[in-house]
Amino acid sequence: MHIDIDFISICKQMQTQSKLDIVNEKYKRTIIYGIVCLITKEKYVGSTILTLKERIDYHIRHRSCRAWQILERGNYKAYVIQHYPCNTRREKLTREGAWQRAYKKSFGEKLVNKNIDGSFVNESPEAKQVYNKKYREEHKDEIQVYSRKYRDEHKDERRAYDKKYRDEHKDERRAYDKQRYVEHKDEIQVYKKQYREEHKEEMRAYDKQYQKKPWTCEYCNKTMTTGAKSNHKRKTCKNKPVECHTIQ
Ligand SMILES: [Zn+2]
Repeated sequence: MHIDIDFISICKQMQTQSKLDIVNEKYKRTIIYGIVCLITKEKYVGSTILTLKERIDYHIRHRSCRAWQILERGNYKAYVIQHYPCNTRREKLTREGAWQRAYKKSFGEKLVNKNIDGSFVNESPEAKQVYNKKYREEHKDEIQVYSRKYRDEHKDERRAYDKKYRDEHKDERRAYDKQRYVEHKDEIQVYKKQYREEHKEEMRAYDKQYQKKPWTCEYCNKTMTTGAKSNHKRKTCKNKPVECHTIQ
C-alpha cells in the first residue's frame, strides 16, 4: 500500500493546530514572566501556567532552555510581566511572542530567547511548538541525565512529599477509585476476563510452582508443600488450637 507522506504531514499539522486551540481552564492562570541576569543584564521572556516560583524551579531542574544561561550564574531576578488569563495555548504563546518581540526591540541581543534559534521570536505559535519539540528531541540525552541526577539528589524530599500527598488525599483517592470502578465495572470485568484467558498458561504454571513451595505449620512445626497446607490446617494437624476444632 502506498502512503502519501504529504498526507501524513498534513494530518500531523492539523493535529498540532487543533492542540493549540483546545480550550482549557488552566490557561486562565497564564503569566508572562521575565528573568534578568543582574550581572550581564541578559533577559529571558517566557509564559507559563505555573506560579513564577514553580516555573523557575522547573527551568533549574531541566536546564532545557536558554533561561538556564541566566539562572546558572545564580544572580538574577524573576518577575511577572503580565497576568494574562486566556483560553488556549495559542493565545498564551501569541501573547508571549508579542512580549518577546517587544523586548527584542528594546533590548536587542540582550534577549537570550533570540539566541537559541531566533526564528520563533518572530514566528507563529506553531513554529515555536515545532521548535520546542525539536529541541527536546535533540537534547534528549542531556535532559535525561540531568533529570536523573536531580531525581537522585532529591530522592528523600520527593519520597517525603509523595507520602505526605498520599496521606492528605487518601479519602479522595479511595472515593475516586470506587467511583471509577462503579463507572467502568463492565469494562473492568471484561478486561480481567480477557487477561485471565490470555495468561492462562502462565497463571497455571505460577500456581503450580506456588503449590510446590515449602510451608511450615506454625502449630506443629511440620514442613510440607503449600498445596497441602489447607488440608493440614483443617484436618491433619495434631497441634492446631482448640478454637479451630470448634469452628470445624
Ligand atoms: Zn500442624
